[in-house]
Amino acid sequence: MVRVALIAHDDEKPEMIDLVEAYEGVLSEFDLVSTGTTGKRIMEETDLTIDRKQSGPLGGDTQIGALVAEDEMDAIVFLRDPLTAQPHEPDISALLRICDVHDVPLATTRTAAEYVLDGVAADIEME
Ligand code: PGA
Repeated sequence: MVRVALIAHDDEKPEMIDLVEAYEGVLSEFDLVSTGTTGKRIMEETDLTIDRKQSGPLGGDTQIGALVAEDEMDAIVFLRDPLTAQPHEPDISALLRICDVHDVPLATTRTAAEYVLDGVAADIEME
């Protein structure tokens, strides 16, 4: 099954909820993973089931990076706050790097996320 990770910094969580609601039909076809608080919020607002890892500052990004390293991740939507430095910046950089290493598409904005999710969904339909 296609596995997609959903992560949003605090300022971007409302945008993530809006995106997930718009794409709920598509996302329900995927195996979903998230960082702790993002996943909690999404499950409160939708009927989606998500494998929640640790909260970002406690290692959630690192856990998702480990899945990328094991080739167990197909795409990541990571809505980052571009204006506020995060205490776990090194973990975030590591996740971006390992996605580049394994050519796992990672979207950091709403529009990029829509393109990636549309692309993954189109890929499934072609199979
Ligand atoms: P959170 O983590 O979903 O637990 O808030 C996101 C992050 O800051 O990486």
